[in-house]
Order: sequence, then structure tokens, then C-alpha cells
Amino acid sequence: MSAQSVFTSDGIAPTRTDLTPRQLKKYSKAMQEIDKHKNTRVVCPFCGHMSMKNKFMSITKGFIVSNMFECPKCHERMRQGTLDVFAQGPKAYSEWVWSQFYEFDNRGRLNLENIKKLVKDFDFSETFWDTWKQYKEEYTTKFEDDH
Ligand SMILES: [Zn+2]
Repeated sequence: MSAQSVFTSDGIAPTRTDLTPRQLKKYSKAMQEIDKHKNTRVVCPFCGHMSMKNKFMSITKGFIVSNMFECPKCHERMRQGTLDVFAQGPKAYSEWVWSQFYEFDNRGRLNLENIKKLVKDFDFSETFWDTWKQYKEEYTTKFEDDH
């Protein structure tokens, strides 16, 4: 057998190592990153869907892990900080919902029925609604002062 025949396509199984070493490195880094989040439970702040974090991950463009997460249920896209907001507790979550509602005019993106249920189920109600009222009073006063 001549040395040349070794390099013919006969008998050489195509593998995913069609990737360059650089792409392969990125790919394995992406898989490690996903693995790390396998057991982290997160809550989508928009719709209240609860799932494992790796379900929220999206890999895009040549195996680079996107820094955006997408909710598998409502398909809202969000950054890491937004995905973590529920885990920061009832005060932070209340502030976030408030800002989506009044500041960014994003109420159409929120599933309010689910959010209310979630807040109740997690025993967040007291702090959540206290914070909400506080904001409401603060902003109402502010608006009145402006006039
Ligand atoms: Zn969602």
C-alpha cells in the first residue's frame, strides 16, 4: 500500500472533527458551560416558567455560547442578570416587575397571572407587595410634585 492511499477518502469515517482545533476548543468549552448549569433551577421572570438553567441556554454562531438566554416557554430573550432576578428574592423581583410594567412599558411581555401565582407559591407575597406599594406611593408623589 502506498502512502498516498492512506489519504484517500475510502474508509475514513467522517466525524465532527471536521471542526478546526480552534472550533473544537470552543465547542467543548460551550458544552462544559452547559454542563455546569445542568442542576441550577431558574425561573423565567417574564412568564414564571421554572426549569433547569441549561434549558434556557442557546448556542449560536459557530459554537460560541451566546450571552443571551431564551425561555423555552415564552421565548423571551434575556441576559444572565435578568434570568437571575427571581433568585434574588421578593424585593428585587418586585422592583424588576415594577420597572418592566411602568418604566419600560413591557407589561405585554409579562404573564401576570403566572407571576402572581409564583409570588404566592414561593411565599414572596408580603415583601413583594410591600415593595410594590412603596414604589407606587413614591412614584405617585413624584408625579404630583412635578405638576
Ligand atoms: Zn418565560
